[in-house]
Amino acid sequence: MKHSVLIIGGGIAGPALAIFLNKVGIAAAIFEAYPRVDDIGGGFQIAPNGMRVLEQIGLAEEVIENGIESNEFSFENQQGKLLGRVPNGPARIYGIPAVVAARSVVHRALVREAERLGISILYRKRLRHLTNNDAGVIAEFEDGSAFEGSLLIGADGVHSRTRDLIFPTGAQPFYTGLFTIGGFASHPSLTAADVEMRRMHMVFGREGFFGYGHFDKSKPDTVIWLSHLKRDWNPQSLDYKFWSNEELRNDLLARHREWQEPVGTILRSATELLRGPVHDLPTLPQWSKGRVLLIGDAAHAISPHAGQGASLALEDAMLLGKLLRDSQGGHEQVFAQFVQQRRSRVERVIAEARRRGDGKQTLTPTAAWIRDRVVSVLACVSGARMNNWMYSYKIAWES
Ligand SMILES: Cc1cc2nc3c(=O)[nH]c(=O)nc-3n(C[C@H](O)[C@H](O)[C@H](O)COP(=O)(O)OP(=O)(O)OC[C@H]3O[C@@H](n4cnc5c(N)ncnc54)[C@H](O)[C@@H]3O)c2cc1C
Repeated sequence: MKHSVLIIGGGIAGPALAIFLNKVGIAAAIFEAYPRVDDIGGGFQIAPNGMRVLEQIGLAEEVIENGIESNEFSFENQQGKLLGRVPNGPARIYGIPAVVAARSVVHRALVREAERLGISILYRKRLRHLTNNDAGVIAEFEDGSAFEGSLLIGADGVHSRTRDLIFPTGAQPFYTGLFTIGGFASHPSLTAADVEMRRMHMVFGREGFFGYGHFDKSKPDTVIWLSHLKRDWNPQSLDYKFWSNEELRNDLLARHREWQEPVGTILRSATELLRGPVHDLPTLPQWSKGRVLLIGDAAHAISPHAGQGASLALEDAMLLGKLLRDSQGGHEQVFAQFVQQRRSRVERVIAEARRRGDGKQTLTPTAAWIRDRVVSVLACVSGARMNNWMYSYKIAWES
Protein backbone atom coordinates (compact mmCIF):
# COMPACT_ATOMS: atom_id res chain seq x y z
CA MET A 1 0.00 0.00 0.00
CA LYS A 2 1.33 3.44 -0.98
CA HIS A 3 0.23 5.41 2.07
CA SER A 4 -2.25 5.33 4.90
CA VAL A 5 -3.64 8.79 5.31
CA LEU A 6 -5.23 10.28 8.43
CA ILE A 7 -7.64 13.04 7.46
CA ILE A 8 -8.61 15.46 10.22
CA GLY A 9 -12.02 17.00 9.55
CA GLY A 10 -15.19 15.61 8.01
CA GLY A 11 -16.53 18.85 6.48
CA ILE A 12 -16.12 19.38 2.72
CA ALA A 13 -12.40 18.89 1.95
CA GLY A 14 -11.98 15.84 4.23
CA PRO A 15 -14.62 13.50 2.77
CA ALA A 16 -13.85 14.69 -0.80
CA LEU A 17 -10.17 13.87 -0.35
CA ALA A 18 -10.95 10.45 1.16
CA ILE A 19 -13.11 9.65 -1.88
CA PHE A 20 -10.36 10.66 -4.34
CA LEU A 21 -7.80 8.64 -2.38
CA ASN A 22 -10.11 5.64 -2.46
CA LYS A 23 -10.33 6.01 -6.26
CA VAL A 24 -6.56 5.76 -6.54
CA GLY A 25 -6.17 2.91 -4.08
CA ILE A 26 -4.84 4.86 -1.09
CA ALA A 27 -6.27 3.95 2.31
CA ALA A 28 -7.58 6.87 4.36
CA ALA A 29 -9.64 7.40 7.49
CA ILE A 30 -11.52 10.58 8.45
CA PHE A 31 -11.56 11.89 12.03
CA GLU A 32 -14.33 14.36 12.81
CA ALA A 33 -14.66 16.30 16.06
CA TYR A 34 -18.48 16.31 16.16
CA PRO A 35 -21.04 13.49 16.17
CA ARG A 36 -22.51 12.45 12.79
CA VAL A 37 -25.16 14.98 11.69
CA ASP A 38 -27.30 14.78 8.59
CA ASP A 39 -28.35 18.42 8.64
CA ILE A 40 -25.50 20.79 9.39
CA GLY A 41 -27.65 23.85 8.64
CA GLY A 42 -27.29 26.85 6.39
CA GLY A 43 -26.74 26.92 2.68
CA PHE A 44 -24.25 28.01 0.06
CA GLN A 45 -23.33 28.15 -3.57
CA ILE A 46 -21.11 25.58 -5.22
CA ALA A 47 -19.64 27.37 -8.23
CA PRO A 48 -19.01 25.57 -11.55
CA ASN A 49 -15.35 24.97 -10.58
CA GLY A 50 -16.50 23.12 -7.45
CA MET A 51 -19.34 21.36 -9.30
CA ARG A 52 -16.75 19.96 -11.74
CA VAL A 53 -15.02 18.25 -8.81
CA LEU A 54 -18.35 16.83 -7.60
CA GLU A 55 -19.00 15.63 -11.15
CA GLN A 56 -15.69 13.75 -11.12
CA ILE A 57 -16.81 11.83 -8.04
CA GLY A 58 -20.29 11.26 -9.44
CA LEU A 59 -22.21 13.56 -7.08
CA ALA A 60 -23.02 16.55 -9.30
CA GLU A 61 -26.45 15.29 -10.41
CA GLU A 62 -27.53 14.60 -6.84
CA VAL A 63 -26.50 18.10 -5.75
CA ILE A 64 -28.24 19.75 -8.73
CA GLU A 65 -31.37 17.68 -8.08
CA ASN A 66 -31.52 18.72 -4.42
CA GLY A 67 -30.59 22.36 -4.92
CA ILE A 68 -31.17 24.75 -7.78
CA GLU A 69 -29.14 25.85 -10.75
CA SER A 70 -28.34 29.44 -9.90
CA ASN A 71 -28.99 31.36 -13.09
CA GLU A 72 -28.73 35.01 -12.17
CA PHE A 73 -27.39 37.53 -9.66
CA SER A 74 -29.48 40.64 -9.18
CA PHE A 75 -27.50 43.49 -7.60
CA GLU A 76 -29.60 46.08 -5.80
CA ASN A 77 -29.16 48.75 -3.17
CA GLN A 78 -31.10 48.97 0.08
CA GLN A 79 -33.54 51.48 -1.41
CA GLY A 80 -34.55 48.85 -3.98
CA LYS A 81 -32.71 50.39 -6.93
CA LEU A 82 -31.57 47.76 -9.41
CA LEU A 83 -27.84 48.17 -10.02
CA GLY A 84 -27.46 45.38 -12.55
CA ARG A 85 -28.17 41.75 -13.34
CA VAL A 86 -25.61 39.20 -14.45
CA PRO A 87 -25.96 35.56 -15.39
CA ASN A 88 -24.39 33.28 -12.79
CA GLY A 89 -22.63 30.29 -14.30
CA PRO A 90 -24.27 29.53 -16.68
CA ALA A 91 -24.05 25.85 -17.65
CA ARG A 92 -23.95 26.69 -21.36
CA ILE A 93 -20.62 28.47 -20.81
CA TYR A 94 -19.04 26.30 -18.12
CA GLY A 95 -20.55 22.93 -19.02
CA ILE A 96 -21.95 22.66 -15.51
CA PRO A 97 -24.07 25.12 -13.50
CA ALA A 98 -23.42 27.02 -10.29
CA VAL A 99 -25.72 25.43 -7.70
CA VAL A 100 -27.28 26.96 -4.60
CA ALA A 101 -28.26 24.36 -2.04
CA ALA A 102 -28.56 23.64 1.65
CA ARG A 103 -25.07 22.92 2.97
CA SER A 104 -26.38 19.57 4.18
CA VAL A 105 -27.13 18.52 0.58
CA VAL A 106 -23.44 18.67 -0.33
CA HIS A 107 -22.11 17.44 3.00
CA ARG A 108 -24.55 14.51 3.10
CA ALA A 109 -23.74 13.50 -0.49
CA LEU A 110 -20.00 13.44 0.28
CA VAL A 111 -20.36 11.56 3.57
CA ARG A 112 -22.74 8.98 2.12
CA GLU A 113 -20.44 8.38 -0.84
CA ALA A 114 -17.48 7.93 1.52
CA GLU A 115 -19.56 5.47 3.56
CA ARG A 116 -20.66 3.61 0.42
CA LEU A 117 -17.00 3.14 -0.49
CA GLY A 118 -16.31 1.71 2.94
CA ILE A 119 -14.13 4.64 4.06
CA SER A 120 -13.82 4.77 7.79
CA ILE A 121 -15.26 7.95 9.35
CA LEU A 122 -14.70 8.24 13.08
CA TYR A 123 -16.86 10.78 14.90
CA ARG A 124 -16.26 12.57 18.23
CA LYS A 125 -12.54 12.50 17.43
CA ARG A 126 -11.21 15.97 18.18
CA LEU A 127 -7.52 16.24 17.37
CA ARG A 128 -5.47 17.26 20.37
CA HIS A 129 -1.88 16.46 19.58
CA LEU A 130 0.23 14.98 16.80
CA THR A 131 3.63 13.40 16.31
CA ASN A 132 5.18 14.04 12.93
CA ASN A 133 8.56 12.50 12.12
CA ASP A 134 10.41 10.44 9.50
CA ALA A 135 8.75 7.26 10.63
CA GLY A 136 5.19 8.53 10.18
CA VAL A 137 2.46 10.42 12.00
CA ILE A 138 0.47 9.72 15.14
CA ALA A 139 -2.72 11.65 15.82
CA GLU A 140 -3.97 11.82 19.38
CA PHE A 141 -7.55 12.75 20.15
CA GLU A 142 -9.28 14.32 23.13
CA ASP A 143 -10.95 11.02 24.02
CA GLY A 144 -7.49 9.52 24.62
CA SER A 145 -7.38 7.43 21.42
CA ALA A 146 -4.43 7.56 19.00
CA PHE A 147 -4.00 6.46 15.38
CA GLU A 148 -0.90 6.01 13.22
CA GLY A 149 -0.51 6.76 9.54
CA SER A 150 2.07 7.62 6.94
CA LEU A 151 0.60 11.09 6.18
CA LEU A 152 -1.79 13.42 7.97
CA ILE A 153 -3.96 15.93 6.13
CA GLY A 154 -5.44 18.78 8.14
CA ALA A 155 -8.88 19.50 6.64
CA ASP A 156 -10.17 20.88 9.91
CA GLY A 157 -11.35 24.28 8.78
CA VAL A 158 -10.64 27.90 9.59
CA HIS A 159 -9.74 27.29 13.25
CA SER A 160 -7.58 24.29 12.38
CA ARG A 161 -5.99 22.49 15.31
CA THR A 162 -3.64 20.78 12.85
CA ARG A 163 -2.38 24.20 11.74
CA ASP A 164 -1.81 25.30 15.33
CA LEU A 165 0.11 22.10 16.06
CA ILE A 166 2.47 22.32 13.10
CA PHE A 167 2.85 26.11 13.16
CA PRO A 168 2.36 27.04 16.83
CA THR A 169 3.51 30.61 16.29
CA GLY A 170 1.97 30.96 12.84
CA ALA A 171 -0.79 33.22 11.51
CA GLN A 172 -4.19 33.12 13.19
CA PRO A 173 -7.60 33.79 11.63
CA PHE A 174 -8.79 37.33 12.20
CA TYR A 175 -12.28 38.79 12.55
CA THR A 176 -13.13 40.93 9.53
CA GLY A 177 -15.58 43.13 11.44
CA LEU A 178 -18.58 41.61 9.62
CA PHE A 179 -20.90 39.27 11.42
CA THR A 180 -23.01 36.85 9.39
CA ILE A 181 -26.49 35.66 10.26
CA GLY A 182 -28.57 33.56 7.91
CA GLY A 183 -30.71 30.55 7.28
CA PHE A 184 -33.97 29.74 5.61
CA ALA A 185 -37.38 31.41 5.67
CA SER A 186 -40.71 29.96 4.63
CA HIS A 187 -42.62 32.81 3.13
CA PRO A 188 -43.65 33.55 -0.45
CA SER A 189 -41.11 36.37 -0.69
CA LEU A 190 -40.01 35.59 -4.22
CA THR A 191 -41.67 36.73 -7.43
CA ALA A 192 -42.54 34.26 -10.20
CA ALA A 193 -39.61 35.70 -12.18
CA ASP A 194 -37.25 35.10 -9.23
CA VAL A 195 -38.25 31.44 -9.15
CA GLU A 196 -38.17 31.06 -12.93
CA MET A 197 -34.78 32.77 -13.24
CA ARG A 198 -33.42 31.11 -10.09
CA ARG A 199 -32.27 34.52 -9.10
CA MET A 200 -30.12 35.42 -6.10
CA HIS A 201 -30.70 38.97 -4.86
CA MET A 202 -27.55 40.67 -3.57
CA VAL A 203 -28.64 43.83 -1.74
CA PHE A 204 -25.97 46.34 -0.71
CA GLY A 205 -26.65 48.88 2.03
CA ARG A 206 -24.86 51.80 3.57
CA GLU A 207 -24.29 49.45 6.43
CA GLY A 208 -23.88 45.85 5.38
CA PHE A 209 -25.39 43.42 2.93
CA PHE A 210 -28.44 41.17 2.58
CA GLY A 211 -28.63 38.25 0.14
CA TYR A 212 -31.63 36.05 -0.56
CA GLY A 213 -32.99 33.71 -3.19
CA HIS A 214 -34.49 30.46 -4.22
CA PHE A 215 -32.60 27.30 -3.28
CA ASP A 216 -34.81 24.27 -3.41
CA LYS A 217 -36.91 23.25 -6.45
CA SER A 218 -39.40 21.42 -4.27
CA LYS A 219 -40.01 24.47 -2.04
CA PRO A 220 -40.71 27.57 -4.18
CA ASP A 221 -41.90 29.46 -1.09
CA THR A 222 -38.71 28.92 0.87
CA VAL A 223 -35.77 31.28 0.61
CA ILE A 224 -32.20 31.09 1.67
CA TRP A 225 -30.97 34.37 3.21
CA LEU A 226 -27.86 35.93 4.62
CA SER A 227 -27.22 39.21 6.44
CA HIS A 228 -23.75 40.69 6.86
CA LEU A 229 -23.52 43.58 9.28
CA LYS A 230 -20.64 45.21 11.04
CA ARG A 231 -20.56 44.37 14.73
CA ASP A 232 -18.10 44.80 17.52
CA TRP A 233 -17.42 41.27 18.51
CA ASN A 234 -15.34 39.99 21.34
CA PRO A 235 -14.40 36.33 20.89
CA GLN A 236 -13.98 36.00 24.65
CA SER A 237 -17.50 37.10 25.50
CA LEU A 238 -19.22 35.15 22.66
CA ASP A 239 -22.26 37.35 23.33
CA TYR A 240 -24.10 37.11 19.99
CA LYS A 241 -23.72 33.35 20.08
CA PHE A 242 -25.99 33.21 23.13
CA TRP A 243 -28.63 35.68 22.02
CA SER A 244 -32.00 34.00 21.57
CA ASN A 245 -33.41 33.88 18.04
CA GLU A 246 -35.98 36.52 18.99
CA GLU A 247 -33.36 38.94 20.38
CA LEU A 248 -31.29 38.51 17.26
CA ARG A 249 -34.32 38.82 14.97
CA ASN A 250 -35.37 42.09 16.64
CA ASP A 251 -31.85 43.43 16.36
CA LEU A 252 -31.71 42.52 12.66
CA LEU A 253 -35.15 44.01 12.00
CA ALA A 254 -34.01 47.25 13.60
CA ARG A 255 -30.76 47.40 11.67
CA HIS A 256 -32.35 46.47 8.33
CA ARG A 257 -35.40 48.71 9.06
CA GLU A 258 -34.98 50.98 6.08
CA TRP A 259 -34.17 48.27 3.60
CA GLN A 260 -36.42 47.36 0.67
CA GLU A 261 -38.90 44.53 1.06
CA PRO A 262 -38.82 41.56 1.26
CA VAL A 263 -35.88 41.94 3.68
CA GLY A 264 -38.16 42.58 6.71
CA THR A 265 -40.62 39.88 5.65
CA ILE A 266 -37.86 37.31 5.33
CA LEU A 267 -36.43 38.23 8.72
CA ARG A 268 -39.85 37.98 10.38
CA SER A 269 -40.50 34.53 8.90
CA ALA A 270 -36.97 33.13 9.25
CA THR A 271 -37.05 29.68 10.79
CA GLU A 272 -33.42 29.63 11.84
CA LEU A 273 -30.83 32.30 12.54
CA LEU A 274 -27.40 30.75 12.20
CA ARG A 275 -24.77 33.19 13.30
CA GLY A 276 -21.03 33.62 13.30
CA PRO A 277 -18.20 36.10 12.86
CA VAL A 278 -16.71 36.30 9.35
CA HIS A 279 -13.06 35.29 9.56
CA ASP A 280 -10.21 35.59 7.14
CA LEU A 281 -6.74 34.07 7.39
CA PRO A 282 -3.49 35.82 6.50
CA THR A 283 -1.35 34.04 3.90
CA LEU A 284 0.56 31.16 5.45
CA PRO A 285 4.18 30.98 4.29
CA GLN A 286 3.93 27.18 4.34
CA TRP A 287 1.06 24.72 4.11
CA SER A 288 3.00 21.64 5.14
CA LYS A 289 5.52 20.42 7.63
CA GLY A 290 7.09 16.98 7.47
CA ARG A 291 4.33 14.47 6.79
CA VAL A 292 1.49 16.89 7.49
CA LEU A 293 -0.29 19.04 4.89
CA LEU A 294 -3.14 21.52 5.30
CA ILE A 295 -5.96 21.77 2.75
CA GLY A 296 -9.21 23.72 2.41
CA ASP A 297 -9.95 26.43 4.97
CA ALA A 298 -7.19 25.10 7.25
CA ALA A 299 -4.64 26.25 4.67
CA HIS A 300 -6.41 29.21 3.11
CA ALA A 301 -9.66 30.19 4.84
CA ILE A 302 -11.49 32.74 2.74
CA SER A 303 -14.22 35.19 3.69
CA PRO A 304 -17.53 34.15 2.08
CA HIS A 305 -17.95 37.12 -0.30
CA ALA A 306 -16.89 35.31 -3.49
CA GLY A 307 -18.87 32.11 -2.76
CA GLN A 308 -15.73 30.05 -3.35
CA GLY A 309 -14.44 28.51 -0.08
CA ALA A 310 -16.11 25.13 -0.51
CA SER A 311 -15.21 25.01 -4.19
CA LEU A 312 -11.56 25.71 -3.40
CA ALA A 313 -11.65 22.96 -0.75
CA LEU A 314 -13.05 20.54 -3.36
CA GLU A 315 -10.36 21.55 -5.86
CA ASP A 316 -7.67 20.94 -3.23
CA ALA A 317 -9.02 17.45 -2.55
CA MET A 318 -9.06 16.50 -6.22
CA LEU A 319 -5.59 17.84 -6.99
CA LEU A 320 -4.02 16.19 -3.94
CA GLY A 321 -5.62 12.85 -4.87
CA LYS A 322 -4.24 13.16 -8.38
CA LEU A 323 -0.73 14.13 -7.24
CA LEU A 324 -0.58 11.25 -4.74
CA ARG A 325 -1.76 8.87 -7.47
CA ASP A 326 0.92 10.05 -9.91
CA SER A 327 3.73 10.47 -7.41
CA GLN A 328 7.06 8.91 -8.30
CA GLY A 329 8.92 10.55 -5.41
CA GLY A 330 8.12 10.93 -1.74
CA HIS A 331 5.45 12.96 0.02
CA GLU A 332 7.80 16.01 0.12
CA GLN A 333 7.64 16.21 -3.65
CA VAL A 334 3.85 15.80 -3.71
CA PHE A 335 3.33 18.48 -1.06
CA ALA A 336 5.66 20.86 -2.91
CA GLN A 337 3.79 20.28 -6.20
CA PHE A 338 0.47 20.78 -4.44
CA VAL A 339 1.48 24.14 -2.99
CA GLN A 340 3.07 25.22 -6.24
CA GLN A 341 -0.10 24.44 -8.22
CA ARG A 342 -2.58 25.83 -5.68
CA ARG A 343 -1.09 28.88 -4.06
CA SER A 344 -1.43 31.50 -6.76
CA ARG A 345 -4.98 30.45 -7.57
CA VAL A 346 -6.28 30.48 -4.01
CA GLU A 347 -4.54 33.75 -3.21
CA ARG A 348 -6.14 35.42 -6.20
CA VAL A 349 -9.59 34.18 -5.17
CA ILE A 350 -9.01 35.28 -1.56
CA ALA A 351 -8.03 38.76 -2.74
CA GLU A 352 -11.23 38.93 -4.81
CA ALA A 353 -13.33 37.89 -1.78
CA ARG A 354 -11.68 40.60 0.34
CA ARG A 355 -12.33 43.20 -2.34
CA ARG A 356 -16.02 42.22 -2.49
CA GLY A 357 -16.21 42.20 1.31
CA ASP A 358 -14.97 45.80 1.43
CA GLY A 359 -18.18 46.89 -0.30
CA LYS A 360 -20.21 45.45 2.60
CA GLN A 361 -18.53 47.42 5.38
CA THR A 362 -20.18 50.55 6.78
CA LEU A 363 -19.77 53.32 4.23
CA THR A 364 -20.34 57.04 4.12
CA PRO A 365 -23.22 58.12 1.81
CA THR A 366 -20.66 59.19 -0.80
CA ALA A 367 -18.72 55.93 -0.58
CA ALA A 368 -21.99 53.96 -0.85
CA TRP A 369 -22.96 56.00 -3.92
CA ILE A 370 -19.57 55.27 -5.52
CA ARG A 371 -19.86 51.57 -4.61
CA ASP A 372 -23.30 51.42 -6.28
CA ARG A 373 -21.89 53.03 -9.45
CA VAL A 374 -18.97 50.60 -9.51
CA VAL A 375 -21.30 47.60 -9.10
CA SER A 376 -23.53 48.94 -11.93
CA VAL A 377 -20.63 49.50 -14.28
CA LEU A 378 -19.03 46.14 -13.51
CA ALA A 379 -22.33 44.30 -14.02
CA CYS A 380 -22.86 46.09 -17.32
CA VAL A 381 -19.30 45.79 -18.66
CA SER A 382 -18.26 42.38 -17.33
CA GLY A 383 -21.64 40.61 -17.13
CA ALA A 384 -21.32 36.83 -17.12
CA ARG A 385 -17.55 37.15 -17.65
CA MET A 386 -17.14 38.70 -14.18
CA ASN A 387 -16.49 35.30 -12.60
CA ASN A 388 -14.99 33.61 -15.62
CA TRP A 389 -11.47 33.27 -14.24
CA MET A 390 -12.78 31.65 -11.06
CA TYR A 391 -15.44 29.43 -12.61
CA SER A 392 -13.51 28.09 -15.60
CA TYR A 393 -10.74 26.46 -13.52
CA LYS A 394 -10.41 22.75 -14.29
CA ILE A 395 -8.22 19.98 -12.95
CA ALA A 396 -7.66 17.25 -15.52
CA TRP A 397 -8.09 13.97 -13.64
CA GLU A 398 -6.68 11.81 -16.43
CA SER A 399 -2.87 12.02 -16.59
C1 LIG B 1 -21.50 32.45 6.22
C2 LIG B 1 -20.66 31.65 5.26
C3 LIG B 1 -21.10 31.52 3.95
C4 LIG B 1 -20.34 30.79 3.05
N1 LIG B 1 -20.78 30.69 1.76
C5 LIG B 1 -20.06 29.98 0.88
C6 LIG B 1 -20.53 29.82 -0.46
O1 LIG B 1 -21.58 30.33 -0.86
N2 LIG B 1 -19.78 29.07 -1.31
C7 LIG B 1 -18.60 28.50 -0.90
O2 LIG B 1 -17.96 27.81 -1.74
N3 LIG B 1 -18.13 28.62 0.34
C8 LIG B 1 -18.84 29.34 1.25
N4 LIG B 1 -18.38 29.48 2.53
C9 LIG B 1 -17.07 28.90 2.89
C10 LIG B 1 -17.14 27.39 3.07
O3 LIG B 1 -18.14 27.06 4.00
C11 LIG B 1 -15.78 26.87 3.54
O4 LIG B 1 -14.76 27.42 2.76
C12 LIG B 1 -15.74 25.35 3.43
O5 LIG B 1 -16.70 24.77 4.29
C13 LIG B 1 -14.33 24.84 3.75
O6 LIG B 1 -14.34 23.45 3.78
P1 LIG B 1 -13.33 22.66 4.73
O7 LIG B 1 -13.62 21.23 4.56
O8 LIG B 1 -11.96 23.16 4.49
O9 LIG B 1 -13.70 23.13 6.21
P2 LIG B 1 -15.05 22.88 7.01
O10 LIG B 1 -16.20 22.72 6.10
O11 LIG B 1 -15.11 23.97 8.03
O12 LIG B 1 -14.81 21.49 7.73
C14 LIG B 1 -13.88 21.35 8.78
C15 LIG B 1 -14.30 20.14 9.62
O13 LIG B 1 -13.27 19.87 10.56
C16 LIG B 1 -13.85 19.56 11.81
N5 LIG B 1 -12.87 19.87 12.87
C17 LIG B 1 -12.49 21.07 13.34
N6 LIG B 1 -11.56 20.96 14.30
C18 LIG B 1 -11.32 19.63 14.43
C19 LIG B 1 -10.46 18.86 15.25
N7 LIG B 1 -9.63 19.43 16.16
N8 LIG B 1 -10.47 17.51 15.15
C20 LIG B 1 -11.29 16.90 14.24
N9 LIG B 1 -12.13 17.58 13.42
C21 LIG B 1 -12.15 18.92 13.52
C22 LIG B 1 -15.09 20.46 11.85
O14 LIG B 1 -16.03 19.99 12.79
C23 LIG B 1 -15.57 20.37 10.41
O15 LIG B 1 -16.45 19.31 10.20
C24 LIG B 1 -19.11 30.20 3.46
C25 LIG B 1 -18.68 30.32 4.78
C26 LIG B 1 -19.44 31.05 5.68
C27 LIG B 1 -18.97 31.19 7.10
